[in-house]
Amino acid sequence: MGHIYIYDEKFDIPSESLVAAGEEQAHLDRYYSVKKEALDEIEKIKLSVESVDPSKAEIFTAHKEIVEDIIINEEIPARILNEHWAGDWAIYQVYETVLGVLRKTADPLIAERAADFDDIRAMLLRLWYGQKSSSLSAIKEPCVIAARELKPSGTAGFNGGKILAILTETGGVTSHAAIIAKSYGIPAVLGIEGLLSSVKQGQICAVDAGEGTVIIDPEEGIVKEYQKKSGVFNRDRKDAETFRKREAVTSCGIRIDIGLNISNADDDELGAQSYTDGVGLFRTEFLYMGRNTLPSEEEQFTTYRKVLECFGKRPVILRILDIGGDKQVSCIEQKHEDNPFLGNRGLRLCFNNPDIFKTQLRAALRASLYGNLWLMLPMVGSLDDIRKAKEIISETKDGLKKEKVQFGEIKIGIMIEVPCIALIAGSAAKEVDFASIGSNDLCQYLCAADRMNAAVETYYQSYHPGMFRLIKETVTAFNNAKKPISICGELGSDPFAIPVLIGLGLRKFSMGAASVAVVKRAISAVTVAQAEEMARKTLAFSTAGEIERYLVECSVK
Ligand code: PEP
Ligand code: MG
Repeated sequence: MGHIYIYDEKFDIPSESLVAAGEEQAHLDRYYSVKKEALDEIEKIKLSVESVDPSKAEIFTAHKEIVEDIIINEEIPARILNEHWAGDWAIYQVYETVLGVLRKTADPLIAERAADFDDIRAMLLRLWYGQKSSSLSAIKEPCVIAARELKPSGTAGFNGGKILAILTETGGVTSHAAIIAKSYGIPAVLGIEGLLSSVKQGQICAVDAGEGTVIIDPEEGIVKEYQKKSGVFNRDRKDAETFRKREAVTSCGIRIDIGLNISNADDDELGAQSYTDGVGLFRTEFLYMGRNTLPSEEEQFTTYRKVLECFGKRPVILRILDIGGDKQVSCIEQKHEDNPFLGNRGLRLCFNNPDIFKTQLRAALRASLYGNLWLMLPMVGSLDDIRKAKEIISETKDGLKKEKVQFGEIKIGIMIEVPCIALIAGSAAKEVDFASIGSNDLCQYLCAADRMNAAVETYYQSYHPGMFRLIKETVTAFNNAKKPISICGELGSDPFAIPVLIGLGLRKFSMGAASVAVVKRAISAVTVAQAEEMARKTLAFSTAGEIERYLVECSVK
């Protein structure tokens, strides 16, 4: 519960106005000074981001290029001097013309570029009207953020400790806002239609992100109820925290392996190495996001080496570039697809871009000398995929050998996220060294429900009996083949599902740092025999609803 802080880069559209005769130069000078302020502000954000994560700073170089764009900077002065447009109208209108062209294209990459132009126009107009930076780094008091959308420029230098909750109008589970919220452990309710027109700056609001409820100006009774809820939530969080640094052991003494899911490999993420057993999922595609050029072999090598050194002998599961579907990047050209989740994604995209694939493999293989590298292939659907990828890995190794470049021993494994590979897990296990269940995608493909589409949310059922049956088949096949199998999707960090997954035979889990404490606590609460009994009962149910009720019931016992 807290005061609303509205974070909105939206501006009022300036009215179409002309300057009084003789005032043109003053408007032009003001445009130049606003432009300089914008460049200074972008540079400041860039420096603060660079100190944490240099690869993420590249987007701000692109933003500066937009401010300096030659055509825009010919057009705006021309409109002011020759057609007597007021400066704010000239900024609005000239950017609008460029945006009109960009928006018309069906190419998602160009559409992404339009969002950057929109961002810069909002910034210039904000500065024109003398408004201070609305970057969230300015927040000093605890508050609930209400935003249309959270963009990387807004969250640069963000103080997660001051944010009580995040509310947004747009964005699903894998949006930037969701990633930020999850990594800081901030409760978030996303995709609230009409949010900004229903709240005012400073209003009190109560949020229950578990239920997805937001109450503005709550009555006394509700305040009391939410104070109680928040007390329970905070005590529970504190209690779970006591488990964070302990070993993950069931109450009958079986050790469970806890891997870490990482993406940008910054110090915040790697800080969790002291209480985890390795990296269970390194989403390397994040190195390719928010930039217009591909990361070089050297840049990737440096990052992979840093992670491998950080974990020493513990395994680091580095997932090969998983672009496509929900993850689009500007530095790789992707053709428009009607069904991108069923299209050119993950390993398929790597096969279509062998240079990009091989550059990543070279960087990873070279880095393998510095730790315990396990390479994982995303979006695998068949043994053909596995064999083809292994062949490319072999060719890359041969290339390095020829150049006398050294590399170490590695393991090769697969993500289990396409149902057809789960159904032949026994055959797949013969071809690879390990596997990890990507339950996020496995669920969307199994239930035929887009993980990004809030309209089909009820069809995306992680507790669908079919999910647990398929997980059982997969885990049993890998356990029989004596090959490591883990789970790195969200289901693997769900404390209600943990006992069932243990009961189905999983002994390795991987998750974001924010979930480690809660998961270790859930593990400590059951014996393997109890977990097996829960798994048996779960598999006997016929609907997701029945399973959910049963698992919630078990957790309160
Ligand atoms: C998954 O699909 O479960 C997974 C871990 O990968 P991502 O969420 O990155 O697609
Ligand atoms: Mg996936």
